[in-house]
Amino acid sequence: MTLLYYDPTFLEHETGKHPERPERLVQVVRQLERTGLDAQCVRPAWEAASVEQLSCVHEPGYAAEVEAFARHGGGRIEEDTLCSPRSYEVARLAAGAVCDAVRRVVRGDDTQALCLVRPPGHHALRSAAMGFCLFNNVAVAARTAVAQLGLDRVLIVDFDVHHGNGTQAIFWDDPQVGFFSIHRWPFYPGTGDSDETGTGAALGTTLNLPVEFGTARADYLAQFQGGLERIAAKMRPDLILISAGFDAHRDDPVGSLGLEIEDFAALTNLVLDVADVHSGGRVVSALEGGYNTGILAGSVAAHLGEMLVRNRRSRAAV
Ligand code: ZN
Repeated sequence: MTLLYYDPTFLEHETGKHPERPERLVQVVRQLERTGLDAQCVRPAWEAASVEQLSCVHEPGYAAEVEAFARHGGGRIEEDTLCSPRSYEVARLAAGAVCDAVRRVVRGDDTQALCLVRPPGHHALRSAAMGFCLFNNVAVAARTAVAQLGLDRVLIVDFDVHHGNGTQAIFWDDPQVGFFSIHRWPFYPGTGDSDETGTGAALGTTLNLPVEFGTARADYLAQFQGGLERIAAKMRPDLILISAGFDAHRDDPVGSLGLEIEDFAALTNLVLDVADVHSGGRVVSALEGGYNTGILAGSVAAHLGEMLVRNRRSRAAV
């Protein structure tokens, strides 16, 4: 059974009328209950990421800065990103969820996990909050996988409509962690052109697919598949992490790249195919964006539904 991470504590990162608001997860959880998908998953208990754990990607002192900012009441920690008094603890719990999922999947408790966390993480830089993100959840988990759990190679697949600039920057010169992103272009945050491919020993371990608004859905999916298969063949990852943003949906108020809910099922299947070939089916997915709450709920349900079907099928084959 797929591991499912969610805790009501994630609702305590209060952001008022900001698009990245608690209601997103309320709707997602309701949908998973309604469809019975949550009952098909295992719900592990886990610990918040420690400051030491966060420091495997974030600069020493950055976590303390976020803590102090939240403790003094919060507010706008940067142009687009809000903090409430509880945000520091909530963000550590989010990063801790993805790390725990990676630990359990590497240990073999299960092959798949979905982490329904907030705040999201893929814009968070080493020493700065950015784009609704405080700590880079997926990056902390990927670094944990290679530095502490002994994996040789990890691939991060990011299909959020925005480029995961924080994740790219963190692993820019790290040959053990590949980064593959498909995103709207030109668009926020302005990075992610196709000539950004990493440096030094990590040259070629970053692959960006910028996609213009108006691109046909079939074309988008074909580009995603081609890019994913290319980077996976190069990285031969032991584990795949997904930065699962659903804001490329055509009705998303922040992003939009013309996708429909069924396209997220297709993206999920393409990642699962590559995971079957290279990483023994091991996939840990973490929620990033998606701001039309009803659409987000349907998209996450489609994403998890495909993971569950694949999990059942591979168990039946054993
Ligand atoms: Zn996004």
